[in-house]
Amino acid sequence: MEKTIAAIATPHAVGGIAVIRVSGPDAIAVCDRCFQAVSGRPLSVLSGYHAAYGTVMDGRDPVDEAVALVYRAPKSYTGEDVVEISCHGGIYITQEVLRIILRSGAVPAAAGEFTKRAFLNGRLSLTQAEAVMDLIASQGQQSARAAVTAMQGALYRQISDVKDSLVAVCGHLSAWADYPEEEIPAVGQESLLQTLSAAESTLEKLLRQFDSGRLVRSGIRTVIVGKPNVGKSTLMNLLSGCQKSIVTEIAGTTRDVIEETVQIDGLILNLADTAGMRETEDPVEQAGVALSARKLEQADLVLALFDSSLPFSAEDEQLIGRLEGKKTIAVINKTDLVQRLDERLLPPYFDQIVRISAKQETGVKDLHNAITHLLKISDLDPNAPMLANERQRRAAVTARQYIAEAKDALVSGMTLDAVTISAESAVEALLELTGERVTDAVVDEVFSHFCVGK
Ligand code: GDP
Repeated sequence: MEKTIAAIATPHAVGGIAVIRVSGPDAIAVCDRCFQAVSGRPLSVLSGYHAAYGTVMDGRDPVDEAVALVYRAPKSYTGEDVVEISCHGGIYITQEVLRIILRSGAVPAAAGEFTKRAFLNGRLSLTQAEAVMDLIASQGQQSARAAVTAMQGALYRQISDVKDSLVAVCGHLSAWADYPEEEIPAVGQESLLQTLSAAESTLEKLLRQFDSGRLVRSGIRTVIVGKPNVGKSTLMNLLSGCQKSIVTEIAGTTRDVIEETVQIDGLILNLADTAGMRETEDPVEQAGVALSARKLEQADLVLALFDSSLPFSAEDEQLIGRLEGKKTIAVINKTDLVQRLDERLLPPYFDQIVRISAKQETGVKDLHNAITHLLKISDLDPNAPMLANERQRRAAVTARQYIAEAKDALVSGMTLDAVTISAESAVEALLELTGERVTDAVVDEVFSHFCVGK
């Protein structure tokens, strides 16, 4: 921890400004070796949250004009002394400034090391650190909002409250068991059961929402299916706002699966426009059809397109046969044309039916509403605490199991010791969730997914 680390915190690309971040006990001294403020004063005389304008120097040679912003421990992102140097955002110049800083006594930061230090210094809980990563990775409004909520500590606080209630139970039970002669009021079974049930239901709610939360965070794996020429590519292009799929009037043009991440009103769809799901002799097309079938199997959502201008066909029927058990929205396209499709022939098991014109760009809002309704995303409150990943989910499942055991022990009249042991195990699992008691291996694993400079 005593090493001073440095990394470029902005993307590896040309931009107006780039930021090089330096953190550790020597951060200010390191930067004083290679940064000359126009004021002539060294950075070491600046107090926290103060900036100096000056020149990054390579020995006697000026390299770039820059601003150095000084943070003093513990009031910085990492909790250590930090200097952020904002220089011009050329790829060469940014790397050159970093090289000079490294020559002046810093070492390169590992992936996620700034945030890891923030965690180890108690500036962030593990769930908040994970939220930082989720926020950077988020591609849509809803996932970003959920990440900000977690970053501000909503999940941490909720889990801490549950944990505190269990700790109080354990403390009370232990005191009562250890000092029976003291006048500690016996804990009523009713009130114990109530506390345990409340803790259990909080965790249950979090776990229930985990799947819909995943859809919001990582995007909904969506497959568009429909017979050739029904308008799959046109819909895909409409949603992605660019001409990516090849739109033609020859059936079977979309041979491979074309994938695109699109947004409908803040919802992320990982969209796959599949080859027509039909019998074919063409080996190239066969490969596409097989890939489509796999995509369909993995999909969270299927958009099944039907052509409003054509009568219901055997091909439509065949397609429908493949969709059983999938969450499917029937999307009736080409509603701008004369209607020949008898919608009554669509089987009743479609969860939703939406009418659109991909060409005239109508009906997208209805499609959005149908998706959020079908996947129960509309019930999700992005400002409420949510479990954000598999690590957190597993810890919550373990805690819930132990709480259930504690309840069983209580109801079946086992010793209060047994209740205490289970409740304590639940507390352990919750401490692991927030990162307050977690192994180095888990911490390393969490931060290994970060990018360098964060
Ligand atoms: P795909 O084979 O399912 O991908 O179908 P395409 O997206 O290539 O569309 C086939 C043809 O239908 C193209 O000429 C499109 O312009 C046309 N098309 C797609 N959507 C609509 C629509 O809503 N209305 C009308 N009138 N034509 C459409």
